[in-house]
Amino acid sequence: MRALVKVLMVLVLLCLVLVGFFLVPPHLQVRGVEPPLPDDAQLRALLSVDNGPVSVRFVNTSTQQLPTGRLGHVVLLAEWANGNVLMLDAGMDRANAIEFGRLMETALGADPAVPHGNIVELLGDKIQRIVGVGFTHLHIDHTQGIEPFCEARGPGARVYQTSWQAELHNFNTEQGASIVANSCLQPGALSGEGIMTIDDLPGVGVVGLGGHTPGSTLFAIADKGRLWLVSGDTTNTKTDLLTNTGKGFLYSYLLVPENTTRTEELRLWFARLDSNPDMTVIVPHDVGDIEASGMLEFTR
Ligand SMILES: [Zn+2]
Repeated sequence: MRALVKVLMVLVLLCLVLVGFFLVPPHLQVRGVEPPLPDDAQLRALLSVDNGPVSVRFVNTSTQQLPTGRLGHVVLLAEWANGNVLMLDAGMDRANAIEFGRLMETALGADPAVPHGNIVELLGDKIQRIVGVGFTHLHIDHTQGIEPFCEARGPGARVYQTSWQAELHNFNTEQGASIVANSCLQPGALSGEGIMTIDDLPGVGVVGLGGHTPGSTLFAIADKGRLWLVSGDTTNTKTDLLTNTGKGFLYSYLLVPENTTRTEELRLWFARLDSNPDMTVIVPHDVGDIEASGMLEFTR
């Protein structure tokens, strides 16, 4: 009997060591990304640039009904008067959307995912006008759609990544990072510090966030007097953002190593920014809130 207890104790200890070995490095990594956040005036400066975007629209690549609400996989398009388009996130193709959805079915009791098509099917000819691509972060549900994009688009678009997003990866982002690194996207240059900008795409600000992943990035997009702030997966719903609700221990510590001090700081920051009349925070998975935000939907 005593021998059995000893064996069990050794096994438990071994499990703890393995979990620690696997999880401690990504937790330390994501805690190392806490750059200072811009103030409101720095963000508002994007609204006064010349030749900013003439429209910002969204398209939803896949929907899944969760017990807690409707989860979308949204792609955003900012368009300029000269026809240039910046695309944020790439969603997934149909097969990957269904497979990714199975995870949610098992873990959260969700309905099966309903894919609406990959971005090539959804955007049609518009993909030829996409000259810039950004990712809120490199999880597979935001990056895999770049594969069909590249098959159809070929070279000609640049990807705009902070150094954190380009360089810091963990077990959750490695697959997405390699899809992006091996894609048709050429690395594009960001200029400045704090709010970084893209020379050819005026009115867009890029800010390193961290929190959810080391490479989590804010894209702020001016749209005729209104600033859209794309918060990535800091939260999965707008309500969680406005009520400062975290994702829970299991998610933030075991499934997706998050910097929970930083995600709370970001929730409070985004909630305050969202209360400004000229700023609206977009939570990419909360398709219901995006529909209600006044952002137009892209249709072919
Ligand atoms: Zn996501």
